Amino acid sequence: MTSVAMGQMRAILLGRDLKLSLGTAEVRRPEAGEVLVRVEYCGICGSDRHAIASGDWIEYWPAILGHEAVGVVEESVDPAIRIGERVVIDSRRPCEQCALCRRGARGLCESLTWMGESAPGGYAEYVVVPSWTLHRIPDRLQSEVAVLAEPLAVVDSTLDHLPATAGTVRILGGGPIGVLAALRVAQRFAGVEVEIVEVVPERVGLVRQLSVDAVQHSSGSRVDAVIDAAGYVRSVDDAFAGLTNGGTVIAIALGESELQLPVRELVEHGWSLVGSIGFEAVHLDRSLAALAEAPETYRGVVTEIMDFAVARDFLAGRTTLPGVKMVVKPSHV
Ligand SMILES: [Zn+2]
Ligand SMILES: [Zn+2]
Repeated sequence: MTSVAMGQMRAILLGRDLKLSLGTAEVRRPEAGEVLVRVEYCGICGSDRHAIASGDWIEYWPAILGHEAVGVVEESVDPAIRIGERVVIDSRRPCEQCALCRRGARGLCESLTWMGESAPGGYAEYVVVPSWTLHRIPDRLQSEVAVLAEPLAVVDSTLDHLPATAGTVRILGGGPIGVLAALRVAQRFAGVEVEIVEVVPERVGLVRQLSVDAVQHSSGSRVDAVIDAAGYVRSVDDAFAGLTNGGTVIAIALGESELQLPVRELVEHGWSLVGSIGFEAVHLDRSLAALAEAPETYRGVVTEIMDFAVARDFLAGRTTLPGVKMVVKPSHV
């Protein structure tokens, strides 16, 4: 008998004391409009580390984090969703009540929560999710590449803010979001030059292995757009320092530092500053299509696939691993 038949599943649990443990949790049966998904892979996001360190955003305990999940539909109470379908799960949990939700901008919901924060997420063998969150994975796209769809949707939404005339883009930060942004710029905007600035030398090497231009120190040449995926102290000021007239800075990292830029400079140079968060459903469809179109371009972004035990130690900060995107693979009994 499988563990799901017995009603229990293995998971990485975050206790109220912010300690991570390997344990079991009940497999909840899906209710109307819900689906039970067997998790194949779940990507680790930088925001998980923040939630684990602070307990921020979490609404139930013990929590099961993980919001970049792909898997197979195991049980469905929605006639439109077939059992056995491979799916990516939309990570957003909008309130459906606020004015923005009602006009279809769920990604901008005033009370937005994320999978794993308000209800159990993907660091488990199974997860129950609303059926509207599912996006079918194209047959030709392997799940270990499709697991990039959620962060790539975040990136694709960010790139909607690029000026139409941009010919040069600089990305601050060579983490998963920075790397995905560089690859997606090259795929989506033919002829646009893109460069990553990453201060850690080992990461520069990792990024270059993915055929992306990366430097440790910016050349200082002016570019049409800067994407701040680093969020270090003064990163947005650095971004403006390398911007052409009429250029745009897109902030995507949750940087804490205050902006020093005089408004007068913004006006005189015709600069724009945009904050970008989350995505809409259309971006998930687009990112799945982008991955299916060029899986080999993106495959190398997943540098580590780990089991629950290794993932627990990594999430707890007990181990460091060189790599770009780390992915958890539950080993089903
Ligand atoms: Zn995330
Ligand atoms: Zn809302």
